[in-house]
Amino acid sequence: MTLFERIIAREIPADIVYEDADTLAFRDITPQAPIHILIVPKRVIPRVGEALPDDQAQLGALLLTAGAVARQLGICTTSQGFRLVINHGKDAGETVPHLHVHLLAGRPLSWPPG
Ligand code: 5GP
Repeated sequence: MTLFERIIAREIPADIVYEDADTLAFRDITPQAPIHILIVPKRVIPRVGEALPDDQAQLGALLLTAGAVARQLGICTTSQGFRLVINHGKDAGETVPHLHVHLLAGRPLSWPPG
């Protein structure tokens, strides 16, 4: 069972901000911005580069949830805005093998990212 499956199962507590049939969104335990939310599919896909055509609905649900969370938090504006990040593999900083989208906001986010 992945760490995020244990959060989905409520075995590990998390600050959950959104849930629907396919996805869960909760605050990152080590936030990298004033707003740092993780959005995960309930059915595990290990990482984005291993997603299959059958995962299409799950992948779409992640982005729809990201938008819903941004609207819910009041950051879905062109002036404030937010950034979505998916890390695949060690060099990208992936630490949990359960696909997750980082939603970062609440401060200016430099570009290009580090
Ligand atoms: P990755 O580095 O794999 O892209 O992202 C994993 C994220 O999970 C990290 O940002 C890390 O802070 C977060 N994380 C790790 N353990 C926990 C936990 O137990 N609870 C929550 N809410 N976030 C966690």
